[in-house]
Amino acid sequence: MQITEIYKSLQGESTYAGLPCVFVRLTGCNLRCSWCDSEYTFHGGRRMSQDEVFDEVKRLSPTAGFVEITGGEPMLQERELVPLMKQLLQEGYRVLLETSGERPLERVPAEVVKIVDVKCPDSGEADTFHTENLSILNSQDEVKFVISSRADYEFARDFTREHNLAERVNAVLFSPAFRKDAAGARDSSHCLVDPQELAEWMLADDVPARLGLQLHKFIWNPALKGV
Ligand code: SF4
Repeated sequence: MQITEIYKSLQGESTYAGLPCVFVRLTGCNLRCSWCDSEYTFHGGRRMSQDEVFDEVKRLSPTAGFVEITGGEPMLQERELVPLMKQLLQEGYRVLLETSGERPLERVPAEVVKIVDVKCPDSGEADTFHTENLSILNSQDEVKFVISSRADYEFARDFTREHNLAERVNAVLFSPAFRKDAAGARDSSHCLVDPQELAEWMLADDVPARLGLQLHKFIWNPALKGV
């Protein structure tokens, strides 16, 4: 499979935020979100076999632990990715899959925690979520909305209610989008929606969702890759 990078860091998002995790970042994406901070994954990378990827994960995390499969859009390489996920599970790793949900998720092993980033209107990629995936989501999965405007917030709020997400999955996450050229200061000045404003909207509407901040961007320089 085509790999951009494999590294160990702290998980920055989801209910697993703050935990050590190995990231396997696959190359290539079929979307072009306006605030994407991973454009360096669109091209390049290097070809690695399933064994080479597994060996690198094991070198970074010899006693098993969390592994996040991310991208880009990892499900574009589903044919090779599914056997890798099965191997990681067999060897005792806890596997998280970050995906836009634009591709069908039915072949993802049931034990994999799916973190599905449903695109809001101001991402420029609205309506790309494959609605049939809703029936695949289970009580360990998480649905994330990256929010860059009031319109995005209203979309996320209404989608959450309409599809009864809080009953279907482990967590619904509302996360302020970061400017993709953010650098330097490790604070919320780079957020496209002020987290305080987003928190107040969520409280006013009593939305059954969790406010999520990208923890790694408050720990390291937001321009840094591989953290
Ligand atoms: S799906 Fe992810 S990697 Fe692809 S353009 Fe959107 S934010 Fe970037």
